[in-house]
Amino acid sequence: NPLAHSNDTIVAQATAPGRGSVGIVRVSGKHAKTIAKKILGTCPTPRQAIYQGFYDRNNNIIDQGIALFFQNPHSFTGEDVLELQGHGGQVVMQLLIEECLHTGLVRLAKPGEFSEQAFLNDKMDLTQAEAIADLINASSTQAARGAMRSMQGQFSKSINTLVEKVIYLRMYVEAAIDFPEEEIDFLADGLVQKNLVDIVSLLNEIKQQAKQGSLLRDGMQVVIVGRPNAGKSSLLNALSGKDSAIVTDIAGTTRDVLKEHIHIDGMPLHVIDTAGLRDGADTVEQIGIERAWQEIEHADHVLFMVDASEEKEEQPDAIWPEFYARLPKNMAMTVIRNKCDLSQEAFGIDISDTYPVIRLSAKSSMGLEHLTQHLKDCMGFEQVGEDQVIARQRHISALGYAEEHILLGKDQLEQQMAGELLAEELRIAQQHLNEITGEFTSDDLLGKIFSSFCIGK
Ligand code: GDP
Ligand code: ZN
Repeated sequence: NPLAHSNDTIVAQATAPGRGSVGIVRVSGKHAKTIAKKILGTCPTPRQAIYQGFYDRNNNIIDQGIALFFQNPHSFTGEDVLELQGHGGQVVMQLLIEECLHTGLVRLAKPGEFSEQAFLNDKMDLTQAEAIADLINASSTQAARGAMRSMQGQFSKSINTLVEKVIYLRMYVEAAIDFPEEEIDFLADGLVQKNLVDIVSLLNEIKQQAKQGSLLRDGMQVVIVGRPNAGKSSLLNALSGKDSAIVTDIAGTTRDVLKEHIHIDGMPLHVIDTAGLRDGADTVEQIGIERAWQEIEHADHVLFMVDASEEKEEQPDAIWPEFYARLPKNMAMTVIRNKCDLSQEAFGIDISDTYPVIRLSAKSSMGLEHLTQHLKDCMGFEQVGEDQVIARQRHISALGYAEEHILLGKDQLEQQMAGELLAEELRIAQQHLNEITGEFTSDDLLGKIFSSFCIGK
């Protein structure tokens, strides 16, 4: 691996900061044993919990708790690891960490550094390390299960199967090139073509899995806009009532933008209710309006909500020209005609115009299924299967690059019987696939991935 092993012994609190009944300080590296002796007076037998006082350098007791020692390579990081499970107060945790640092043998861990060590010591590959972060951050049962499957290596396994097929084909093609007098026969016998078709079809299966897995992780950003009383809050309640509780961010000044997190069949939906959005506001309101516009510009989808009992027009440009004029071009948007119980319009979806129109009643939830299905369709989200893994945008991109190179090589074979060009494209495709599991990854990328983890992970 390109990244040099750090020889340092590192320490961090492994549990979340704050108060809890238990707090864990983790030490990893070659000095972990020495630290154990200093704080506990002894190093615990590997994998045996001891109940013990934790002492500072003046022999004052800091806390009393459980200590565990893991001898390398049989630990999370692959190094010697000491875990001190004390009482989860910030002072206790801080004192323990300071005691470790005071020895001069240990430094504070950087974010994600324990996982990075585990990766560098081949305890897990990159997708598995990422899955740990995704498991911790999972916002739905489906996402957590997907993260578990990835963590156990299910996603890496399909990538590795694909890589093996590419390697086999590369060997075959390169062997053909080495026997120039027979090269054309080799390449023309149909076996290479058949293998290429197989590889592309497996790659697409995996890409589809990754796409679903990344939706499960990141979900979609939906902004609801509409005049006061259109029924925006009622829609939020209706959507959340179906599946999970509403979580509301009360960040900063509240009345401008309200964010809620809900799920549709496990796909996170970050809904932004832009109550403050209207024409001709005063200066204070203007700030809220600008924030609302920022949200709209970054959204995956805008729900344009109107009160159907009052509004006869159906398309946004006719209903609210000032809004429409500022809307980014190509923005995915759906008109929600709410209160169809009052307007007596039939519930359902109509996709015949520029922007689809959905007729529903937020208050009674009638017609709501058309909206949830529509949002899933727009993102290409399907029912979560038994073997769904978690994935990230970076995996999808790498799969996409690999596919491009394979198809390019396939073209070159078909048009010019150019075995060497095909071999080269397959080599590059394999590199992109190897990036996913971290077999072939730049320091920059690794740094970026692990630094987004929390400290102590
Ligand atoms: P917001 O200002 O856009 O968030 O609108 P609200 O969700 O607060 O709704 C405004 C009013 O319209 C409330 O009195 C709701 O009960 C009512 N309302 C919302 N949706 C419906 C609906 O589908 N049918 C009827 N009849 N009333 C609705
Ligand atoms: Zn939030």
